[in-house]
Amino acid sequence: MNRNDGTDNRSGIVDQSLGYFNHHLIQLYVSRCKLIADHHETFMKRSLVHPLNDVSIDRLTNINGATMLNSEQLHQLAAICRQASDTEIMPRFRKLGSDQVEEKQNHHDLVTIADQAAETFILDKLRALYPDALLIGEESVYQDPAALSQFSKAALSFVLDPIDGTWHYANGSVNFGVMLSVASHGEVVAGIIFEPISGDYMWAIKGQGAFDRVDGQDRPLKAGHQSSLPLSETMGCFSFGVSKGEDRPRAIQAVMQMGRVMDYRCAAAEYRLLNTGATAFVIFQGTLNLWDHGAGLLISQEAGAVARMLDGSQYAPQNTGKLLVAESEARWNEVAALFS
Ligand SMILES: [Mg+2]
Repeated sequence: MNRNDGTDNRSGIVDQSLGYFNHHLIQLYVSRCKLIADHHETFMKRSLVHPLNDVSIDRLTNINGATMLNSEQLHQLAAICRQASDTEIMPRFRKLGSDQVEEKQNHHDLVTIADQAAETFILDKLRALYPDALLIGEESVYQDPAALSQFSKAALSFVLDPIDGTWHYANGSVNFGVMLSVASHGEVVAGIIFEPISGDYMWAIKGQGAFDRVDGQDRPLKAGHQSSLPLSETMGCFSFGVSKGEDRPRAIQAVMQMGRVMDYRCAAAEYRLLNTGATAFVIFQGTLNLWDHGAGLLISQEAGAVARMLDGSQYAPQNTGKLLVAESEARWNEVAALFS
């Protein structure tokens, strides 16, 4: 049979097509490998910026009886938050199945598989680095509140909210953060609010100011950006939706005298807005959990904000009532007066 018949020609076309097809497959494969390699390199760079195995409790300093971290140690903690974000939080964002989200006290109060996995990840790392420290995680304390009772006595403790703003996270909204505070004998000495979406974080060490670390560069935080504005022209956050019974019309009355008011249901986002100067005040109410406020309060105070309960007392873990954090003493008094 003549080999130069139509069959051979068709084979030639098929071979050519297959060659073309294979060429594209190879190109696709190479670009996919490059993508994975780039992602891996970024991940490794992020993870290795602050190696986690060279810190131990005996390197922590003791100042006036309080255990203190230095900034290197704090950034190592932020690197742990970043690793938890990269491995447990972001890979599940907008991909949660209905069986991976559970209600806690009501249908607005959620916990997801990512909260639990991120908490386990971070607490395991902290346990390895600081074996003698007291570890308090939102999700583990929810199961067993006993750890909270040791908070005021522990020489060194870590308090973690693995995902603050779980309602947002579970609903695909970007307002959520990892919050970690470090305390000694019940006093918060360092805090981090890590933002998984951007990879940036706010941080503070007691007595050393507060900073927003954006793309690896620290920007000092300074409260009071809106101090020249009348209250009616400011923006603030107030969880007025939590108000119940006769407290509700009072809350609405107060809101009517404020400028623009938001209710984020995410302390990480609300402390960020206050400390960048986007808002002039924030009022939290209900049960004021230590893991929701330890880091945020220290960062705010180090930035120069004023924070007290509305009755004038200092915040204490698991307080109930209203906590007002304002850009200045004058603003604090002005907002507090709306509730008197
Ligand atoms: Mg949480």
